Amino acid sequence: MRKKTREVKVEELKGPKIQRLILDMAKTMEVEKGVGLAAPQVGSDLRICTIAADDEVYVLINPKIKSSSRKKDIFEEGCLSFPGKFFPVERPINVKVQARDRGGKKVKIKADGLFARVLQHEIDHLDGILVIDRAVKGKLG
Ligand SMILES: [Zn+2]
Repeated sequence: MRKKTREVKVEELKGPKIQRLILDMAKTMEVEKGVGLAAPQVGSDLRICTIAADDEVYVLINPKIKSSSRKKDIFEEGCLSFPGKFFPVERPINVKVQARDRGGKKVKIKADGLFARVLQHEIDHLDGILVIDRAVKGKLG
């Protein structure tokens, strides 16, 4: 989970292997009652994450944060890789993310609140960064 992921090529996105991975990730997220899951958490090295927000499942291919607000807040974050644990993490409140959807179409997402936080958490996973790396020191436990 410490490795950086590689970008998915649009041609390979259409293949059954990646489409199956996406379905597996969405399913795992639902079964584990998570709000987000990144491919490295299921043993893949691809830059893909799934997020459950606003009663929808977002599948993001090659997501990148394009901008984030200067204003930040601290909130307890859980992670399916650290079951039952929560870590206080400081993050920007708003982010703009660019990605592709499962069909390969470019999408832009403006997010705030919990959705923005989950996006940043999952994109961190894709860069090999874990919630424990970001936990605010002195507030653990
Ligand atoms: Zn996580």
